[in-house]
Amino acid sequence: MADKRDYYEVLGVQRGASDSEIKKAYRKLAKKYHPDSNPGDKEAEAKFKEASEAYAVLSDSDKRQKYDQFGHAAFDGAGGGGAGGFDFSGMDMGDIFGDLFGNFGDFFGGGRSSGRRGPMKGANLHTSVRITFEEACFGAKKELELNVKEECENCKGTGAKPGTTPEICPTCKGSGQRVVTQQSFLGVVRNVQTCPDCHGTGKIIKDKCPDCRGTGYVTRKKKIEISFPAGIDNGQSIRVREMGEPGENGGPRGDLLVEAVVSRHPDFQREGRDIYSVLPISYARAALGGDVRVPTIHGDVIYTVAPGTQTNVRVRLRGKGVPSLKNPSICGDHIVTLTVQVPTKLNSEQKELLLQFEEALNGPFDKDGAGKEKAPKKKKGLKDIFEKK
Ligand SMILES: [Zn+2]
Ligand SMILES: [Zn+2]
Repeated sequence: MADKRDYYEVLGVQRGASDSEIKKAYRKLAKKYHPDSNPGDKEAEAKFKEASEAYAVLSDSDKRQKYDQFGHAAFDGAGGGGAGGFDFSGMDMGDIFGDLFGNFGDFFGGGRSSGRRGPMKGANLHTSVRITFEEACFGAKKELELNVKEECENCKGTGAKPGTTPEICPTCKGSGQRVVTQQSFLGVVRNVQTCPDCHGTGKIIKDKCPDCRGTGYVTRKKKIEISFPAGIDNGQSIRVREMGEPGENGGPRGDLLVEAVVSRHPDFQREGRDIYSVLPISYARAALGGDVRVPTIHGDVIYTVAPGTQTNVRVRLRGKGVPSLKNPSICGDHIVTLTVQVPTKLNSEQKELLLQFEEALNGPFDKDGAGKEKAPKKKKGLKDIFEKK
């Protein structure tokens, strides 16, 4: 292709540039023109392709030598010459992009897989247990029955019927991988993927173990005790190490995460370490003051109501809330809202007494309430209240 730019010129390096100079130059360009940084910009995409192609050649000593000797003609036979047909197979994208773009593998429609998989930790399992409000506050032990996947004893985890051995996978010849050639905007890219026939194990089991049906695992019911610490809140999980799925190739088991689902309490509401409740008090108690019992998770607390307490006054009882998860000797507070109850269903005697009381306080009382009675002897009238709201 006559209009194709010189690869050294593309990267902006000298003909005799070292490998590290070439890599550095390409990294700079790739970062600048990467499609992730320039979405929808066709020119940047073209520049990115051009730089990538130049790098693919100049970073490979074999290809670089051919290019130095024959120029672009060296690769014309490979796939038409243009970037669309360029073969990037020799290029280690992960090496250059590993720390540059986390999702570069996705970009090429596959991910990189490096060799046969080594020991891998098993997957974590998740479950939940319902506990009461009080159990969440003070901690609880719960027994849990789990279906635990364990290595099959009959076949020692191989999945093959005892006396037989798994065969080498013919698809990948035991490597557990297969190479897939894909067309991407950069051209042809070769990806290493996990073999779909043996799922990366490199083996095919012909005679399956009857106990585990070839999986190498059996499921057993197991009882374990879960200890929820004092102060755990709804939605928080505790981790039981190595009670998850078995690991692969000798890796450790995953963990079991048990979420606490805390039941609602009929009277208490929890917000972090504080508990909220409402306590109705009589009109007389509010007016005259005196002791009331406030239920808390730590038992009843005697609180002395001040004479003349208004409705919806909030009282904070320090240290009567939920223990801290980190230090159970430190507790949050209990906040109680005192609501003054207006008496209902009065009998005629009570009504008469109330009337006498009211008239003693405020003078003649109009039973029909047409507003003719004197305004209550308060600092704030209704007018003030409404105007403030
Ligand atoms: Zn088995
Ligand atoms: Zn295979």
